[in-house]
Parts: sequence; structure tokens; C-alpha cells
Amino acid sequence: MENEKEIKIENQFDLICPECGVGNLKGSKNCLVCGKNLEDTILFLEDDSFDLEITNDALLEYRKKFWGDDRTGKVNKYSLNEIENMEFGPSSRFIFTYNEKRIVLPLRKENLKKLKEIKEVLNL
Ligand SMILES: [Zn+2]
Repeated sequence: MENEKEIKIENQFDLICPECGVGNLKGSKNCLVCGKNLEDTILFLEDDSFDLEITNDALLEYRKKFWGDDRTGKVNKYSLNEIENMEFGPSSRFIFTYNEKRIVLPLRKENLKKLKEIKEVLNL
């Protein structure tokens, strides 16, 4: 079964580095390419106009270009303890207040669900 083997190999590299986007081996402590500490990452979500990373103390938004998966290089970092009034929805939007500004992130449905779950776990 050729196909099965291929899928297995692919799955071993499913730990995507939030910083440079390279697939790393499951259980890797540091990214092969950029050296980022991968154990910092609690959750990583790939979405349409950005990638989101959640660490112990921050939410990072890696902006992407309108077309395709390329990143713009712009990263918005929000400290978790300064995020207020988290709301989920309507129409799968993640909304919160940060430095008295209202931030609205339109997420894919499945990503919003995961974010909701992690919110419970982290007790935010
Ligand atoms: Zn990396």
C-alpha cells in the first residue's frame, strides 16, 4: 500500500512551526529551520488571512497576503493578560478588546471552535 506509507510520512511532519511555516517532526523541541522553541506553542491555527499562534502568554497573528498562503511579515502580538471581553461570533468572528481597541478576527468555523476550547483550558 504505497499511499498509506506516504500519508504516514507526511503526518510525522505535522508540527508546523508558527514562525516560519516549516513542518517539523512530532515532538520536536525546536524548529529545524529557524530554531524557534516549539514547546511554547499551545495552539496553532492556519486561517485564510492570517495564522494564529497561542503561547502561554500571548496571541500572535501572522498576517497573510490576500492571495495564497504567503505571509506579509506583519505580526500582531497580543498579551493574553491584556485581552478583555472575549466574544465568539456572530458569523465565526473572534472579538476582543485590546488597549481599548476592538479587535475582530474572522476565523474559519473549525478554528473558532478550537479557540473556544483552548479558552476553557487556559481559563482566560
Ligand atoms: Zn521555524
